[in-house]
Amino acid sequence: MTDAARAPRLLAAMAHPDDAEILVGGTLFHLKSLGWELGIMTMTSGDCGSATHTKEEISRVRHAEAKSAADYLGAWYGCVGLMDVEIFVNAESLRSVVELMRRFDPDVVITHSPADYMVDHEEASRLARSACFALSMPLYQTRQIAPAPTTRSTPALYYADPIDGVDAMGDRVFPHFYVEVTGTIEHKLEMLSLHKSQRDWLRAHHGVDEYLEQARRWGARYGQESGFEYAEGLRQHLGHGYPHEPWIQNALNSIIKTRN
Ligand SMILES: [Zn+2]
Repeated sequence: MTDAARAPRLLAAMAHPDDAEILVGGTLFHLKSLGWELGIMTMTSGDCGSATHTKEEISRVRHAEAKSAADYLGAWYGCVGLMDVEIFVNAESLRSVVELMRRFDPDVVITHSPADYMVDHEEASRLARSACFALSMPLYQTRQIAPAPTTRSTPALYYADPIDGVDAMGDRVFPHFYVEVTGTIEHKLEMLSLHKSQRDWLRAHHGVDEYLEQARRWGARYGQESGFEYAEGLRQHLGHGYPHEPWIQNALNSIIKTRN
């Protein structure tokens, strides 16, 4: 059921601040330029992302960085409030995720690959998948004082690539399709650079600007596979109960290469 009056609403539901930027930042800028309403939701505020600050300090810093990165994209930002390395699917975390997702009311959700390099990403993926299913169920209550309304329908669900394009066993996970991000890669890197604490941390560690270089390398590698200069990959959840409507493929038709 598509509401012709409203712009498509896409929520990137990821584990940590910067995951959405790294994995699908270029795609998000393309959709923004088409008038889509975007949101970024992270499960945590990145409370373990420092070797020098306290958890409270780095949480505050990274929450602010995530917000300014979302502002740069022109996206809403929400944080579920879970803790790094402790993202788990349970009744309480699912209620929190559903509540925040209902507030944004997405037509399309992008989350992590179900198989990824760390459990936080895999559990975030499972949380997002379960939440998508529950969003439009009137009897699923989030037990908030002023709960957001139930959504009209289940959003279409997409998975970003796992980090490095491989699962926890090191086996390659291929996308269903590639999105060319040659035209948006610089915006993506600029957005990523707003996560200053992470950039500085990696720069101190490696002596080079590894935070941005890594993102550029990944983009170039996916580009090489797809015949573009830079690309990102996505898969759509095509199991029972989730919309099969190809929202992203249709919107970005001219810059998409489907993997055969
Ligand atoms: Zn992450």
